[in-house]
Amino acid sequence: MKKVRVRFAPSPTGCLHLGGARTALFNWLFARHNKGSFILRIEDTDKERSTKEAVDVILKGLKWLGFDWDEGPEAGGDYGPYFQAQRSGIHREYADKLIKEDRAYYCYCSPEELEAMRKEARENGRPPKYNGRCRRLSDEQRKEYEGQGRKPVARFRTKQEGATKINDLIHGELSFENSLLDDFVILKSSGTATYNFAVVVDDIEMKISHVIRGDDHISNTPRQALLYGALDAALPEFAHIPMIFGSDKAKLSKRHGAVAVTMYEDEGYLNEAMVNYLALLGWSTSDSQQVFEIDDLIKKFTLGGCSKSASIFDFQKLEWLNGEYIRKMDIDELTEKAMPFISGAGLRVDDRERVKKAVLMEQEKIKLLKDIPGLIDFMLKDDMEYDDRAKNKVLKKEGAGEVLSDMLERIKGLDDFSEKGLEEAVRKYCEEKGLKTGKVFHPLRAAVSGRTTGPGLFVMLEFIGRERVMKRIEDAMKYTQ
Ligand code: GLU
Repeated sequence: MKKVRVRFAPSPTGCLHLGGARTALFNWLFARHNKGSFILRIEDTDKERSTKEAVDVILKGLKWLGFDWDEGPEAGGDYGPYFQAQRSGIHREYADKLIKEDRAYYCYCSPEELEAMRKEARENGRPPKYNGRCRRLSDEQRKEYEGQGRKPVARFRTKQEGATKINDLIHGELSFENSLLDDFVILKSSGTATYNFAVVVDDIEMKISHVIRGDDHISNTPRQALLYGALDAALPEFAHIPMIFGSDKAKLSKRHGAVAVTMYEDEGYLNEAMVNYLALLGWSTSDSQQVFEIDDLIKKFTLGGCSKSASIFDFQKLEWLNGEYIRKMDIDELTEKAMPFISGAGLRVDDRERVKKAVLMEQEKIKLLKDIPGLIDFMLKDDMEYDDRAKNKVLKKEGAGEVLSDMLERIKGLDDFSEKGLEEAVRKYCEEKGLKTGKVFHPLRAAVSGRTTGPGLFVMLEFIGRERVMKRIEDAMKYTQ
């Protein structure tokens, strides 16, 4: 196989969305698996819609996901510039060559004339294609049009006979009737290359070996293949990866919730979990493995494992995977990642060891980093609120008041206020009173944490500390009967 060079070629007209991130991932994995190069090319020829902010957001998203690029913005490389708008001189050179060889021609038709042409075709039951009016202009006709101040576009002379066949690495052989194509524009009247032309020129120039992109681009492929032929360039391999749908089977869009990758970062998803999840969108191993370390993913990724049909974005599965990664994470690393969320929620983080202990107590349960402050705030703050369940389902229950006042006494006089000491004392109390442990554990937990779920009871009591525990039990007694 020739040296693998693949590219991710986003248009900076918006955020890095999930579909784009998945395309980037498949390119990146393919490059890393084959020890090739992953190239980032920013396709910013649409000057009106491209913005610097969008470029920044895309770069930030790729960095967060860990898709390092070997060539491209910031990285440089031998095949630059990597911003398409800066390559217009190269595009024009290629267009001139096609014009010289009569494989492309200038067309002076105005937008109104083109519209009339389409209308006429529709009325006569023909597809609304360009009718080839400027295909054979004489020099005089050209001069006349230019004299009228018309600015031409350049059109590719598309052959109408036969079919263009492409062997797609995911879809197999694809065949397109050439008669369905028209003489499409390669240079706009502004002199800027169109998408189909720029992408082919740049892929040739950048020696791209495999074009891996969303299958919404399949319909562009025959035009691009014809351009390769006209430019005497070898076709790259094509691999069109399936779309991502929402649960309603419609193409994923803002309507389905978070589609921008940065939103996942803000919500407290881990980049590793996100990458793992994205990999499963349209790709699988024969044994349907679900959880992958990144090196494992690189090792196992092949285009052969990509499916032809669309995949459904399942937010719950992503959340589940995120929880899996959080559970396996080293506690120092988890605390580090959780810090911005914890301090952002207004909790004190100066005593890092204490924060770490609190996070550790809840590590098993965390799904999103964003949930952490809500799980541990009652352990870190002095004040605390009682939720409805704690008040109505536990503290109001018969016997809870008595249990709490006894607990207050015992805790006050307890010599060993440690997890172990507390457990011994509370269990002893249950035995003496002939109470089931739940009758005591539940009100105690509700009184001290304000909720009915949380970390292990005794480790939590030790962590909160005797004084605060006692104060909270006293406070909670006002909710008992
Ligand atoms: N700029 C194009 C896009 O964002 C790239 C398509 C391609 O990979 O050829 O859809």
